[in-house]
Amino acid sequence: MKNSLRQMRFALQSFLMRLMYGRNGFDNMARACYGVSMILLVVNIFAGSVIIYFMWIGLFAYSMFRTFSRNIPKRYAENQKYLQMTRGIRSRGEVLKLNMQSGSTSKYYICSDCGQKIRVPKGKGKIEIRCPKCGNRFIKKT
Ligand SMILES: [Zn+2]
Repeated sequence: MKNSLRQMRFALQSFLMRLMYGRNGFDNMARACYGVSMILLVVNIFAGSVIIYFMWIGLFAYSMFRTFSRNIPKRYAENQKYLQMTRGIRSRGEVLKLNMQSGSTSKYYICSDCGQKIRVPKGKGKIEIRCPKCGNRFIKKT
């Protein structure tokens, strides 16, 4: 019984590997589209809108298209562009998360020039922060 279960898992794994061979895979952009489509799906339980329904189908289909696409160089370039475009938003989200985790001892800021995350001690009043990466200086209240 245990053996056949393992065999089944192995068969499934090799099936997935064969399926994904030479495909782009579930990249950041596909993941984002999939995430938004799932949010739309939940929203539409309440909203019941045809427009949201088609948006959901579109985004879901696009994330699947990306995942199974064989044109890897093109998908890779698109994904890099997506990462570059959303860099600001993503690092802001990260900083928000870090600030929630760090509690009362320290605070995180993003350098406005290079996007580097900088940790400073909290409760020091107004201080000048110098970015360790690009040397940009800015004043923040901690
Ligand atoms: Zn900087």
